[in-house]
Amino acid sequence: MMQDTAKHKGLRNQLVKTLVDKGIVDTKVLECIREIPRHLFMDSSFIDFAYQDKAFPIAADQTISQPYTVAFQTELLKIEPGDKVLEIGTGSGYQTAVLVSLKAVVYSIERQKELYEKTRKFLPKVGYVAKRLKFGDGYLGWESEAPFDKIIVTAGAPFVPKALMSQLKIGGRLVIPVGNDVQVMTLFIRTSEKDFQKYEYGNFRFVPLLKESQK
Ligand code: SAH
Repeated sequence: MMQDTAKHKGLRNQLVKTLVDKGIVDTKVLECIREIPRHLFMDSSFIDFAYQDKAFPIAADQTISQPYTVAFQTELLKIEPGDKVLEIGTGSGYQTAVLVSLKAVVYSIERQKELYEKTRKFLPKVGYVAKRLKFGDGYLGWESEAPFDKIIVTAGAPFVPKALMSQLKIGGRLVIPVGNDVQVMTLFIRTSEKDFQKYEYGNFRFVPLLKESQK
């Protein structure tokens, strides 16, 4: 198993400064990024770049999200300890680890079998244990575990899947990047059975949220 070192910790302190400069203010989120050894979540060929504020390739043509994006989405979720959180797009498990570290009870879905298997084995080794991981289609959400306090989508969604709206608790928050080539970071707060408040933030670029039929 690869190690965390003083050098890596120093690089993470630098990364946290960069995120503060870019406007991240939630100190709990910043502390998670300071603690979690992102380099362990990456393929060995990219390890030297782990603390640059960039997305990098992982297995199955996917990417580990940029730290700024992870911080931005997590800040919008306003995680409270014990929150039941659904994540769509487990990927490397880095965002999952941030949520676990904030004491959320995390359910995460990944549609690439290779990544699902890899991350399922990896997360317990680094001590970030999700409540449940599932190989499946995030467009459908996780009906049997609904409702959720918070839902986060970590791939670019061409539209907002209805299932995710309906699986949100009243008072709950859904953070989802919406769009095709470029996505608008969007926050929905469910205010009643039928009503949602919608807030839009800046543009981001994600790998696409794919349907079951797409490869
Ligand atoms: N949170 C991850 C981001 C990975 S990129 C990380 O920080 O590493 C987005 C992930 O969403 C990819 O792993 C991709 O395979 C997955 N994905 C794409 N479409 C999906 C779908 N319909 N359901 C679940 N996961 C999906």
